[in-house]
Amino acid sequence: MPDDLTKMAEPYRIKMVEPLRVLSREERIQKIKEAGYNTFLLKSEDVYIDLLTDSGTSSDYQWAGMIMGDEAYAGSRNFIHLYEAVKDIFGYNYMVPTHQGRGAERVLFPLLIKKGQYVIGNMHFDTTKAHIEMAGGTAVNMVIKEAEDTENYHPFKGNFDVERMERFIREKGSENIAFILATVTCNSAGGQPVSMENIKEVKRVADKYGIRFFIDAARFAENAYFIKQREKGYENKSIKEIVREMFSYAEGFTMSAKKDALVNIGGMIAIKDDEDLFRKVQNMVVPLEGFVTYGGLAGRDMEAMARGLEEGLSEDYLHWRINQVKYLGDKLREAGIPIQYPTGGHAVFIDGKKFLSHVPQEQFPSQAICVELYIEAGIRGVEVGALLAGRDPVTGKEILPALDFVRLTIPRRVYTNSHMDVVAEAVKRVYARRDSIKGLRFVYEPPILRHFTARLEPVE
Ligand SMILES: *Cc1c(COP(=O)(O)O)cnc(C)c1O
Repeated sequence: MPDDLTKMAEPYRIKMVEPLRVLSREERIQKIKEAGYNTFLLKSEDVYIDLLTDSGTSSDYQWAGMIMGDEAYAGSRNFIHLYEAVKDIFGYNYMVPTHQGRGAERVLFPLLIKKGQYVIGNMHFDTTKAHIEMAGGTAVNMVIKEAEDTENYHPFKGNFDVERMERFIREKGSENIAFILATVTCNSAGGQPVSMENIKEVKRVADKYGIRFFIDAARFAENAYFIKQREKGYENKSIKEIVREMFSYAEGFTMSAKKDALVNIGGMIAIKDDEDLFRKVQNMVVPLEGFVTYGGLAGRDMEAMARGLEEGLSEDYLHWRINQVKYLGDKLREAGIPIQYPTGGHAVFIDGKKFLSHVPQEQFPSQAICVELYIEAGIRGVEVGALLAGRDPVTGKEILPALDFVRLTIPRRVYTNSHMDVVAEAVKRVYARRDSIKGLRFVYEPPILRHFTARLEPVE
């Protein structure tokens, strides 16, 4: 229990409620079967606690702004507000909105990648990897090896292995590297933060070899909060100051605003000062997303985003947010359940290979756990493992990633800790009966991003 009791519960009260529908266990068994044992194919109304993604949410302040949506095709006041928020928080001069994060990737990446070039990341997000490949590039991950060791503490498991990265650049030649992309926090490694020191080191290497450096900024505020908590010299800085410094080292970013910008839809590309690149981005955004002052969004969406960016920097909010994730993580760890430790910013990641050690990785142990959590208590998690990793594009062989996770993603300001108690209890019950859980195999396997629409069945 914290000394300061005002830190013990949610720093908000609930103004509007959304009733949840609860199905019986028999109904859930039927629904998951109909969904091809794929949580993406469940109807949301058949889910009790939805931990598929942390995307989306909003406050009364944001809703108040949405009423003031200026739906002009060009020059909407909400665009201007959003632009000013970006300039104020990140210190960047140029910005275009996009309909979401992947829209930003689709516009920016083809401008930076020549066919055959590499894009080095700590660990690329799935749509990011897909857009790199669609632009003719190859995505490579250079996260530190500590990220793969789920049991042991490291304060910044999202860090780049800078030495390995430098060796790779020398080996391939800097002309064959399109750019470096730091994902903060590193979603695929477990929502793990990247330290300021590491960002600076990456920037140093990028400059040394004349390589461009960008950030995938979806969880910029959570990353800054971790820096404040864990990195020497930042204890007394504000979140905004830390964000400013982080972004001063990069030359631009793509952002999914559905995460730390606290909106249900939206994204952006921001560029510090490269006017030429910005002009190219503007030229591409018009046919792909929408005119340069709306990028596929309604005025009200941009207003919610501008306000969400401001609200997302609140330390009380970030403290609660990150500690709610830790609260669930601590409960699971106390019960002996293998998770990525320490917990990251937006989700608890269960180590599926350790949890279901009798199920071979080719039979998607993490997916099998997701299925059981749905049956146990109507909880929808998501697999981030072999099912998501897909096949090697050249050999067609299954990629078996070192990290094979069930991601229990906690949406911001949506569920209470009572819901977290239900989740913890459900995981414990599934763990207690783990020996009887079977793996899964394909009934239908789509060629790309297969996890979204694949259909599976239990291996008998
Ligand atoms: C969500 C996410 C994206 C993609 O953004 P969408 O808004 O879902 O299109 C890209 N990168 C990271 C790190 C993300 O978490």
